[in-house]
Amino acid sequence: MKARFADWVATADAVRATTKKLEKHAALAGYLSSLEDADLEIAARLLAGAPFPRKDERVLSVGWSALSDVLLQRSGKKGEDMAASYQRHADLGDVAGELIGDTPREGEPLTLGDVAKAFDAIAAARGVAPKRELLRDILRRATADEARYLVKIVAGETRIGLREGLLEEAIARAFGRDREGVGRAHMLTGDIGEAALRAKHGTLDEPTLAHFRPIGMMLATPVLQLEEVGKRFPPPYVVEDKYDGIRAQVHKAGDRVELYSRTFDRITNRYPELVEPLLRVPGSYVIDGEVLAFSEGKAIPFTDFQTRLGRKNVAAELRTKLPSSLVAFDILERDGRALLDVPLTDRQEILRALPLESPVLFARHQRIGTSGEDLVAILEREFAAARGRGNEGLMVKDPRSPYRPGRRGMEWLKVKRALRTLDVVVTAVEWGHGKRRAVLSDYTFAIRDGERLLNIGKAYSGLTDKEIAEMTTYFQEHTLHDYGRVRTVIPDTVIEVAFDQIQPSSRHESGYAMRFPRIVRLRPDKPVTEIDTLETVRQIAGR
Ligand code: AMP
Repeated sequence: MKARFADWVATADAVRATTKKLEKHAALAGYLSSLEDADLEIAARLLAGAPFPRKDERVLSVGWSALSDVLLQRSGKKGEDMAASYQRHADLGDVAGELIGDTPREGEPLTLGDVAKAFDAIAAARGVAPKRELLRDILRRATADEARYLVKIVAGETRIGLREGLLEEAIARAFGRDREGVGRAHMLTGDIGEAALRAKHGTLDEPTLAHFRPIGMMLATPVLQLEEVGKRFPPPYVVEDKYDGIRAQVHKAGDRVELYSRTFDRITNRYPELVEPLLRVPGSYVIDGEVLAFSEGKAIPFTDFQTRLGRKNVAAELRTKLPSSLVAFDILERDGRALLDVPLTDRQEILRALPLESPVLFARHQRIGTSGEDLVAILEREFAAARGRGNEGLMVKDPRSPYRPGRRGMEWLKVKRALRTLDVVVTAVEWGHGKRRAVLSDYTFAIRDGERLLNIGKAYSGLTDKEIAEMTTYFQEHTLHDYGRVRTVIPDTVIEVAFDQIQPSSRHESGYAMRFPRIVRLRPDKPVTEIDTLETVRQIAGR
């Protein structure tokens, strides 16, 4: 018997209905252990909140207008009903549930297989009309509750995905395995569905790091004061420049090389000048690094380099004007040997044995053995020197640490420019004044608190006129509700905002406000899940 999507929905609802971890685990484990292989794989992926596994490069690309068209059609409601409902829920999935209500569904009830097949077809379809047709077909068959989740997944809402750890733990529990093993298989395969299957069949130990299957990148924790470094772990410290570019994971085997972004997208085409030099390094490897451009030995500001970023295929002209370099700072695999569990010191030795040639370079690095005031003095000097080289600041790493994919820990610390910027997401935009009358140039932005986005400030755009014009079009196409002067927008534009101070304030829902906020740049490389959090804001504000 094929598993009904309705049972998946009931499980997801049960998990959301309780705040108790044990109850969440029990609901999930009971459900997952009841499924056959193919259904288990689909159910686990959907519980993670995404239509496809992490390693998969496919996207649904269903636009906001197609989605709302189909919804209005399915529910028989009007545009203003939808706007009012969005005001209440701020979540398109919940809007779908409310609008559809009791309107009857048609055809056979949905199975998990139907849902997976529909997502495959939508991703494969080219053009708006065919995608809309497919979406209409599946929503016709969905109940209000089912539509609520389908739409959340299609719209990429962050609010359905269970925390990775929670899901891994429930899978471990469902099949009597340990959580570490499930987490490791997930990380290595990039597919929670495959990890669940392996947990079921007792083959969690099999997967190893595979070429051309990117894994999560290790992340760093910000330190707000240099003194803090010494409190995180004892000497020695590995100190590197923090390069301000695009993170890239490079996989090379045989005569193929690929670069992947932190969201697992293949970005090789954007940096064609790196391919040959990377291929010339013999053997196989996976390295972690940053792509950026240098001019006369100094890093070019990210905003200048960024013009290349949005382009899938980079024209020859831009390539000669702003040739990219890759700065390698870590190695995860070499000639068939996985190095994730090898301490950083040893990984760096292996990395530095690679015969790299320009424009592929090694990151500047050194080892510091001191602590206390000496450490702070050295870090201060190094920070200034790194800034002088056009870099963003410093990374301080624990030489004993393994490479922890996708984890943000205390083993990598980042010391950024004057420590006074936050990565935030735009939630609303407003028409400007004077010569900016015709563009949406004032942005309201939010930080993250768990699954919630909380506004923290508003600023005039400090972007270039061209960027503002492009973003104006983008925001017009991604408007949630148009109030005239102001419009709320789909929260998926990440920007970096600089400020002088953060203070408690009742002006914004985060409970904090910034003094002199200014928008520094767009951060298309950063997903909303990785913007700064309320916790960081509290620390900066000191309360
Ligand atoms: P942030 O983007 O501000 O959260 O800082 C973390 C990012 O710094 C990483 O994801 C890398 O893209 C980048 N980075 C630059 N230099 C280094 C380095 N030497 N080691 C690790 N990450 C670095």
